[in-house]
Amino acid sequence: MLVMKFGGTSVANFEAITRTIFIIGGKLDKKPVVVVSALSKVTDLLYRISDAAASRNEAETRELLAQLRKRHTDLAGELLAQSVLKDEAVAKVNEICDNLDSIAMAVCSLGELSDRNKAIIISNGEYLSSTIIAYAMNSKGIRTKWVDARSMMVTNNSYMKAEPDMTAIMERVPGVIADAYDGMDAVITQGFIGVTKDGEPTVLGRGGSDYSASLIGMAVDAERIEIWTDVDGVRTADPRKVQNTRYLEKISFEEAAEMAHFGAKVLHPLTIEPAVRKSIPIYVLNSMNPSGKGTAILRNEFIEDGVKSVSFKENIRVINIFSTRMINTSGFLRRVFEIFSESKVSVDLISTSEANISVTVDAAERIEPVVEQLSEFADVIVDDDKSQVSVIGKNIVRLNGMLKKTFTPLKKCNVYMISQGASFVNISFVVDREELSEVVQDLHDHLFDQVEELETF
Ligand code: ASP
Ligand code: MG
Repeated sequence: MLVMKFGGTSVANFEAITRTIFIIGGKLDKKPVVVVSALSKVTDLLYRISDAAASRNEAETRELLAQLRKRHTDLAGELLAQSVLKDEAVAKVNEICDNLDSIAMAVCSLGELSDRNKAIIISNGEYLSSTIIAYAMNSKGIRTKWVDARSMMVTNNSYMKAEPDMTAIMERVPGVIADAYDGMDAVITQGFIGVTKDGEPTVLGRGGSDYSASLIGMAVDAERIEIWTDVDGVRTADPRKVQNTRYLEKISFEEAAEMAHFGAKVLHPLTIEPAVRKSIPIYVLNSMNPSGKGTAILRNEFIEDGVKSVSFKENIRVINIFSTRMINTSGFLRRVFEIFSESKVSVDLISTSEANISVTVDAAERIEPVVEQLSEFADVIVDDDKSQVSVIGKNIVRLNGMLKKTFTPLKKCNVYMISQGASFVNISFVVDREELSEVVQDLHDHLFDQVEELETF
């Protein structure tokens, strides 16, 4: 079996979906399980609908709902223009939109939006896209079964950012997919969408469709997981920020996980983990250039040592925690990290000295409650306007001269925290945000021109 996930831009409109169906049609011998995102920008629109409804702005809620309905009914009409299935497909789209309208209007009249209802609203993007694409595939002669992700993708009840229940997923998914395959050429389901053990709707968090694909791949023991997107694969750095980046033909699971975690916007950061469990290769491919090689994400032994990526997070903060009472009190660190974890603020880099701990957090995290609690027993200074840069590659921490090569181009700027990952894959540090562009460009030029000269110890 093969899992093929298509992101929002690969299903954005008539042309994109036509191309996507053509790609799927070429792989029917591999028994594809197709996982789709919402059409591009639709999840954002659903967030706006839920905000408008929660703030009881009835006119805006109605206007946005109408936009959403029009985009999907038009698309279904266009894709199925020549098909006997057209009326049925448009009716189905309208039925999904009717249900959404009534939930949104109920929220609007109450002015109250629970996370549970929000997850129901937000998940409609994937229901709509998968429904339309299933009809379009069938109309083109690919016998396709539509599967509701809520029949198999079991999660906990953090409705808006649910965590998968691996055991339950492993138990349920193979049976559901096998049954769906009966007499069919392909199966299609939604990314991003989950369900609690009690049948309550959840979603996996923004960008979660990649994660869904990888979880399904793991559960059905897929031979590979394909993540179809709008770029030719994974690059050495974000080309919107850095010039002269290159494509990477292959990277390791570990490198990919670090890149995703440390800012590269290619894959949802948790995507790698389920694939690693079963050693299933992941391919990042371009639906606008399907004959390209893409990037293969493989087991470590297939990957050479050396730098693969300069990744970065543009907006972070450094929280410096000082306490003279910290010395020799083993409970101090525990207490500090308990506070972060209770407030669900996730920490990236950590560095400690005898009387000080510094950590970095994403600037979007709500840190006020953390700072308040820490201030009860420590002095806390928060540095804003910082960026975090990570150099990532197999064994780089062990490569001779690597630290020197990383820091030579940075002579002119302040470097605040330096951390070498215990896994040898990552050297990270913090700089002032206003220096970020220059730092990543210099670093990329320097590392990718000279990388051949590095030797292993
Ligand atoms: N549609 C969801 C989002 O935009 C999930 C995804 O596309 O991966 O976040
Ligand atoms: Mg995505």
